[in-house]
Order: sequence, then structure tokens, then C-alpha cells
Amino acid sequence: MGRIVGIDLGTTNSVVAVLEAGRPQVIANAEGMRTTPSVVGFTKDSELLVGQAARRQLVLNPRNTFANLKRFVGRAWDELDDSSLSVPYTIRANDRGNVRVACPQMEREYAPEELVASILRKLVDDASTYIGESIEAAVITVPAYFDDAQRQATRDAGRLAGLEVERILNEPTAAALAYGFDRSAVKRVLVFDLGGGTFDVSLLRIANGVFDVKATNGDTQLGGNDFDQRIVDWLAAAFQEHHGIDLRRDRQALQRLTEAAEKAKQELSGVASTPISLPFIATGADGPLHIETRLDRTTFESLCPDLLDRLLLPVQTALRDSGWAAEDVDDVVLVGGSTRMPMVQQLVRTLIPHEPCQSVNPDEVVAIGAAVQ
Ligand code: ADP
Ligand code: MG
Repeated sequence: MGRIVGIDLGTTNSVVAVLEAGRPQVIANAEGMRTTPSVVGFTKDSELLVGQAARRQLVLNPRNTFANLKRFVGRAWDELDDSSLSVPYTIRANDRGNVRVACPQMEREYAPEELVASILRKLVDDASTYIGESIEAAVITVPAYFDDAQRQATRDAGRLAGLEVERILNEPTAAALAYGFDRSAVKRVLVFDLGGGTFDVSLLRIANGVFDVKATNGDTQLGGNDFDQRIVDWLAAAFQEHHGIDLRRDRQALQRLTEAAEKAKQELSGVASTPISLPFIATGADGPLHIETRLDRTTFESLCPDLLDRLLLPVQTALRDSGWAAEDVDDVVLVGGSTRMPMVQQLVRTLIPHEPCQSVNPDEVVAIGAAVQ
């Protein structure tokens, strides 16, 4: 019999984990990374790319590269809000009102779950190579607020990837499982999940292994990408002031700016200042131009106060909906790569008077919980 894995199918990144001798382990992909970008693309030669390779052509080949597909899985066209519609690729409604993704390179349309299936396929293929066993089944996580159609479409994606989907599990429940909270008698847990493009707050009541989602809230248009964009704008504005060139209008330059911004942001979670070096980013009248600068954490934080403000209301609303006061919360679990930012952790500490749980990597905790399940 094949193995069963846990999969966090994220909007930005996906992670797969497995139980090895009773202990959950994240499995690295073929590129050696523990998280895989949830991006699918086709090259100019119609080659299918999944993960980091697809992500690298996001800005360069925007009409044939598909990120953020999770926003469309299981959604009818008229359920989409305006902000979801503004992706760089073409989406449309088919005659049954379902969302379809158009791929000019392949001259065809895809259901979002078909493209998501190729992400699942890569995760599982890489994982089975790594553990040296076939993988037949998976527990896949979804946001707590996913409705039946979204859950069914996630199951369909698993089936299209050739997997038996053993269970669809709520992401916050998975995070709580990773911390073993199912073993405690009664607990009230706040799961604070800031990912790449979405923010989710969930309040869980856990009693004798039974998980009850008391309230969910969030912001579907807020995540790490917004913080990256602040650095892109900071770099581009300084460059424009010096050289009169807006790098954001050049796709090649924008791709490099975006990657450098995210890298700098991630480094600033660990160090107080980081170099940013982008040689040959443009050509001016006198030859090639370069970016050679430093960004410190204080400056970065001064670029983002409004983004932090937007984290407050969803937490307060979720608390109000659940009827709990901040003091009633027993534990706070940090989920999502963006909760590695010190400014985000500080904000959480001001909201709930408990030291947040972060012994499990926030970008892996959901997949680990799925493996435990
Ligand atoms: P999602 O659940 O949205 O698929 P993740 O939980 O993997 O995604 O979060 C991805 C986001 O986390 C990205 O914006 C990424 O830049 C950010 N991130 C990852 N590591 C760090 C870090 N060390 N510091 C700040 N942000 C980080
Ligand atoms: Mg996530």
C-alpha cells in the first residue's frame, strides 16, 4: 500500500509532510526547498512549469503564468469580488458560470482545479521520490471559511492529480493539531495566519479532541506581497529620482525588483539591515545603471504602518463574533510565513496578552498538522 501525506495547498506556497516513525516531517521538493510556490506556467515552448520555475517567469510571461489560483477554486464567476478579478492572466466565465483560466500559449482554457492538480502532482511526485515509496492518498487543508463547493473542488483537484483525498481539513485546525492541542481538555485558541496574499483569523474551541470553529475573519487582499510591494516602490522611487527612469515599467527589471524586495524583507526578519544589489538593472544615456543600497528594518517598518493597521480589525471582529475577550484566549498560534516579521509578532502581542506559539515553523505548521491528522 502507498503512503499517505498531509498537504497544505496554499495561495502562495504549498507544503507536503509525512509521518516518519510517528513524527511529522516536511519533505523537500526536487529543488531542495521545503515550500513550493503554488504557481503553474507554460513556457514559450509550451513546457509545463510548476513551483519555483514558474514563479520566476511570473512577471516576464504574465499571461501564461498562473499564481493565486486558490482564489478561484470552486468559485462561481458571480461570487468573485472585484479585487480577485485583477490578476495578470485572463479569467472568464464559461457558459455554466464557472471560472475558467485562459492560456494563450496552449490556446485553451483550464478549470482552476486542473491547474491546481498539477501543483499537487509535483508535490506528491517529488515527495514520493524523496521517501522512495509511492503516495496514494492525502489529507489536504483548506481555509476554515471554504464553502462546500470550494471543498469539493479541492477534492476534485486531488482526484485529477491521481490522489485519494482522505480528508479535507481546516487550516487552523491543522495548525492546532501540530501543537498537540487536541490532547488538552478544553482550550480556546486564536490562529493568526498571515500568508503571501491573504490574512485569516480563526478562533477555535477545542474540547476533548473536538474542534469547533467559533469565528473566522480576515482580509483576502492582505499578505506578504503587500510588504514586498512597499520595498519595490521604495527602490523604484529612489531610482527614478536619481535617474528619471521608472523601473516598474520594464518587466525584466520589475521581476528582479520584486524578487530582491521579497528577499530583503525575509532577511530583515532576522537581521537589522540588509544589502540590496541589482547590477545592470537599466540602461541610461551613459551606459548601464545599478542598484546598490541597504535597507534597514526601521525604514522597512516605516513603509508599512497602514498594512499593520489592517491586521487589527479582523482580530477584534472575530473576538466579538465569538463572544470572547482577549483574556479568554488560552493560546495564540502564528501561521504563515509573514508572521516571521518582527513587527507582525509585536502587533499580535499587543492584541492578546499571551506569548504566541511559534516553536513550529509558521510556513510549515499547517502541513505538519495535516500529516498528524
Ligand atoms: P500562503 O499560506 O499564502 O500560501 P505562506 O504561509 O508560505 O503562504 O507565506 C508566504 C509569505 O511569507 C510570502 O510573502 C513570503 O515572502 C513570506 N515569508 C516567508 N519567510 C519570511 C520571512 N523570513 N520574513 C518575512 N516574510 C516571510
Ligand atoms: Mg497558508
